[in-house]
Amino acid sequence: MDQKRGPVLGNRLVELLCDTHARHRPNRSGALADYIPELTRVDPEAFGIAIATVDGGLHTVGDTDRTFTIQSVSKAFVYCLALELAGREAVLAKVGVEPSGDAFNSIVFDPRTNMPFNPMVNAGAITVTGIVHKLVGKGAFELILEKLSEAAGRTLAVDEAVYRSEADTGHRNRAIGHLLRNVGAVEGSVDDILDIYFRQCSILVTAADLAHMGSTLAHVGDNPVTGRQVFDLLAVRSTLAVMFTCGMYDYSGNWAFDVGVPAKSGVGGGICGVVNRQLGIGTYSPRLDPKGNSVRGVAAFTEIADELGLHAFEYSNVGSAFVRSFVSSTG
Ligand code: GLN
Repeated sequence: MDQKRGPVLGNRLVELLCDTHARHRPNRSGALADYIPELTRVDPEAFGIAIATVDGGLHTVGDTDRTFTIQSVSKAFVYCLALELAGREAVLAKVGVEPSGDAFNSIVFDPRTNMPFNPMVNAGAITVTGIVHKLVGKGAFELILEKLSEAAGRTLAVDEAVYRSEADTGHRNRAIGHLLRNVGAVEGSVDDILDIYFRQCSILVTAADLAHMGSTLAHVGDNPVTGRQVFDLLAVRSTLAVMFTCGMYDYSGNWAFDVGVPAKSGVGGGICGVVNRQLGIGTYSPRLDPKGNSVRGVAAFTEIADELGLHAFEYSNVGSAFVRSFVSSTG
């Protein structure tokens, strides 16, 4: 490891984040999610990028302390928890790991199994929440909140207004929930399961939180800042695989091709990315493209992954050497 080059590379990282932020800040394309009415009450201009390294360092630019609701980013972490609680086979019996190629809220099941395609679309995520509900019962939401808080390294809370807004208007998710009950993917009270699902989507995070949560997965389940083991390592491996193939809705193929980093996005405007054994990236910008991904978030990730050589199949390996040397010398 070339220690002398470290600080220079660290500065280059900050420069890169600042340049990326400045370049994409003027981009006002996309629209706020409005199917959950309360989501329109955010500042559309907010934009933050954060990188948390597996040695506990945090590098930020822009609005990385601004809170927003985690929405579908929660799906990755609740899946990890369900794998840990129920075991891989029990989870696979209820929800698959195939990309669906359909929108996140589509009412379609895998015709071969009659079960949801994967845990990163609503049908699969509601099933996963149902697994946690079945095993934990009344304390299921509290356990989810505790796990996500441990991954972020601070105590997270729920945005009650967004929760109520989604609970009042979430009829499509209710329809999905009842269909899941009908095919046996979930058991028990659909209303109770959806209540937990709506709450988990309404957990407030910042871009810095998403970076820390990503770095906990990158650090095979240990939060690099608190030193606490949050997730089991096999569950992390499975979660990262599904994030890689299904995490960006029906943009997942393009994302794997261009960015090449396991990631999960949410309609609140957040994206959480994981570079295994190296770092977590969190972005926040609430204007979304037609597939439901943050416009500036996708642009920033694409650029950062390219500049740092983060793609899983990076041909030169220069990128990972670059990141490794800055990780070893900044904190
Ligand atoms: N709570 C949202 C929903 O279920 C989450 C969707 C998302 O972030 N893509 O519709």
